[in-house]
Amino acid sequence: MNRPRKDPRAARAAHRVTGGARPRFDLARVPDAAPEDALSASGRPRRDPRAQERVALVPGTLRRRLDRAQRAPAASAAPPALAAPADAAPRLRVIAQPAYLVALVPDAPGGRLTPHDRQLFGAARLLADADGGAVLALVDLATDELAGAGADRVLTLPVAGYDPEAKALALDAVRAALDLRHMLFAESAEGGDLARRLAALSGEELFAGAESLSPKAVTRPAHGRRTEQRGAPPRLVSLAADAVAPHAGTVHEALPVAFAFPEPAGGAILAAEFIPADPARVSLAEADFVVSAGNGVTDFDAFRALVAALGATPGASRMVCDAGLMPRAAQVGASGTVLDARCYFALGIAGAPQHLQGVAKCEHVVAVNTDLHAAMIERAGLAIVADAQKVMPALIGLLAEEAGS
Ligand SMILES: Cc1cc2nc3c(=O)[nH]c(=O)nc-3n(C[C@H](O)[C@H](O)[C@H](O)COP(=O)(O)OP(=O)(O)OC[C@H]3O[C@@H](n4cnc5c(N)ncnc54)[C@H](O)[C@@H]3O)c2cc1C
Repeated sequence: MNRPRKDPRAARAAHRVTGGARPRFDLARVPDAAPEDALSASGRPRRDPRAQERVALVPGTLRRRLDRAQRAPAASAAPPALAAPADAAPRLRVIAQPAYLVALVPDAPGGRLTPHDRQLFGAARLLADADGGAVLALVDLATDELAGAGADRVLTLPVAGYDPEAKALALDAVRAALDLRHMLFAESAEGGDLARRLAALSGEELFAGAESLSPKAVTRPAHGRRTEQRGAPPRLVSLAADAVAPHAGTVHEALPVAFAFPEPAGGAILAAEFIPADPARVSLAEADFVVSAGNGVTDFDAFRALVAALGATPGASRMVCDAGLMPRAAQVGASGTVLDARCYFALGIAGAPQHLQGVAKCEHVVAVNTDLHAAMIERAGLAIVADAQKVMPALIGLLAEEAGS
């Protein structure tokens, strides 16, 4: 320790008022600071609490009052000026002459990218950006989401509706013609099926269910997760969910690419379509859109009417199930069902931690609550601070109006 020692006598002498027979000291006066007093051992200017208090003292009051807001900030203590916010719009990145192409086939049900699809884009960018490549999205329907997700080029497949056989044939034609370095699929029901169909058609190796991916290596667990399989990434790879972060930061061109597809040969599947399930009977774990009632809902007839009008699956908080107002199977949360829904609409639910655990994976959360500070409102992307009993009939009216027009 080589801190300079304090010298109380010298400090007091600095306040001495000159003149007069008896020694007098003016402690309020700021003494001419000696250089070693003004700077600490580390070289930083010393804080003087007394001087700061004198600045904050409000004059003309009977009782001593301090106004800290008036304290003049020391030059060194002044907060650094905030940098002007950079342009908030993401940067457009153009890859005019790609060295190679990395293709991906998102599931995109109804033309909308799922979180798993966005992770697929993240993986494709990882492989493309390593060496000056570009990302080619092979989609059923081109949407404006693709540029932000990370697509440099977009090729629309000539497939209408659910026809995995025709889609696999179209993908095989693209694979053969464009010499793609990689083709990525989501390891989901649809993406996994397509990847296996393409592997069977083309005779190429497929690395299914990859959990980590880089330009040099791809890995997946094996033997009940006791071992790990690793290899150089082949052309066909299907990616497990939550293995790679989605792409963020730059917007890409999403330039449409023309491609002459061969005439579709008549396949074994004559007609195939999705038969939508009755949302009221779908299990909560599989539901896509859940509308839940909490303790703030008293009008359950309006709640049921709203659920039916929205075509959603009904859910509830534990409070409501405990009270016998909804069946136990409808309970959302840690001790109920953990949802995988795209949208969750919470009416009069506080958002207790056990309840929020059940909606952690939901992409969009909408909440209605009278309390602005409810945790459910904080979790929601869109919130209505109002009485649920008034919001429900208003929404039913709007939906009826929309259906009538
Ligand atoms: C071990 C354990 C496990 C649990 N597991 C679960 C679980 O799986 N799922 C679960 O849900 N809970 C679970 N809980 C219970 C949980 O802690 C909460 O008690 C419960 O979620 C609260 O339900 P609620 O939000 O409906 O009711 P409350 O906490 O009473 O909240 C009601 C909300 O409604 C709002 N409100 C009131 N009137 C209106 C109105 N007119 N219009 C709009 N809003 C209004 C209020 O502001 C409030 O935010 C568990 C608890 C424990 C201890």
